[in-house]
Amino acid sequence: MPDILNIRKEFPILEQQVHGKPLIYLDNAATTQKPRCVIDAISEAYTTINANVHRGVHYLSQKATEQFEEAREKVRSFINATHSHEIIFTRGTTEGINLLATSFGNTSLKKGDEVIISTMEHHSNIVPWQLLQQRIGINLRIVPLKEDTALDMDAYRSLFNNRTKLVSITHVSNVLGSTNPIKECIEIAHSHSVPVLVDAAQSIPHIKVDVSVLDADFLAFSGHKIYAPTGIGVLYGKEKWLNMMQPYHGGGEMIQSVRFEHTTFNELPYKFEAGTPDYVGAIALGKALDFVNSIGIETIAQHEQQLTKYALQQLKTIEKMRILGQPDSSAISFLVGDIHPADMGTLLDHLGIAIRTGHHCAQPLIDHLGIPGTVRASFAIYNSIEDIDILVEGIKRIARMFE
Ligand code: PLP
Repeated sequence: MPDILNIRKEFPILEQQVHGKPLIYLDNAATTQKPRCVIDAISEAYTTINANVHRGVHYLSQKATEQFEEAREKVRSFINATHSHEIIFTRGTTEGINLLATSFGNTSLKKGDEVIISTMEHHSNIVPWQLLQQRIGINLRIVPLKEDTALDMDAYRSLFNNRTKLVSITHVSNVLGSTNPIKECIEIAHSHSVPVLVDAAQSIPHIKVDVSVLDADFLAFSGHKIYAPTGIGVLYGKEKWLNMMQPYHGGGEMIQSVRFEHTTFNELPYKFEAGTPDYVGAIALGKALDFVNSIGIETIAQHEQQLTKYALQQLKTIEKMRILGQPDSSAISFLVGDIHPADMGTLLDHLGIAIRTGHHCAQPLIDHLGIPGTVRASFAIYNSIEDIDILVEGIKRIARMFE
């Protein structure tokens, strides 16, 4: 068992009180808090090695470049990619998906081609494809959900035809906290020679994600959901696809030579990293992955799954509790009677409990469920059984006020 008390001490922000109550932070699906080692890594980078990467011959630039590329290698190893040049640093999941939609769209998609997504996607895995729909006239095909909110795999199978060019699907739903059979989704797509982008924003912090085992063609995630700073993320892509794709942004670093008549592009991964990258963010992401590795992602998964199981048991003891879907990961969405999620969120906040309410950037799913939104509690390695007891007690107290 991980020593949660000691792990928690690594997160300075968790020591504070809000509204006179100890902070219970259960909004980890939105963003995680940062351990001291990550905060220190940012400060240390700016204090000791700050210089623009790749372009300088001087000492600081070489040190910064070394650490930036070490961070890329840490990401490669963390997700078990074959090559570190398959790791592209982005601002986060959103930018990763937009990069793919634009670059893959420019290179490989034409009017009438189809992209498959699902009903439970985050807006960042819907809108980039809609923009492409407007720009070049692709069609979106949507995987429906079954009664129990699981992906309808029979319907998924039936969506493929010779116009299907890409599947882009979430690994774990940020609303339902359920894990999709992503390996099966990829196998089915590959049997039609269709590549797959995995939105791993909600899986990478909580379970082992191995792009080689999954045989994922692309995978996007955000650093800030796995204890790293905001503004840094990753798009993984198989070398063969990335080599085929056009650059996303134009500018410095992504070129080999620029003439007014003709420009040639840099090799991977720099072709997709125009401009000065967030090298300090990347270095801090590397530190965050060291932190996760020091505990072990399997240990984290086990702890968070225990928390989820316990939370489900306890929440179900509350009268008029409605749990949405089949949560098996680290997020649980629920409603209590007619209490509006926003009221529940505000009142829990007064008890020092931070949860999230609303549509969670997944309006089509919320519409499908026919609800105004949900209350979502989501867990990280520093959460404990006591946090859940306090949450459940808080909800009971609020429910009594509405009786
Ligand atoms: N995809 C999923 C499933 C998410 O939960 C989120 C954020 O909550 C995103 C994508 C977007 O992540 P970001 O805002 O860090 O780019």
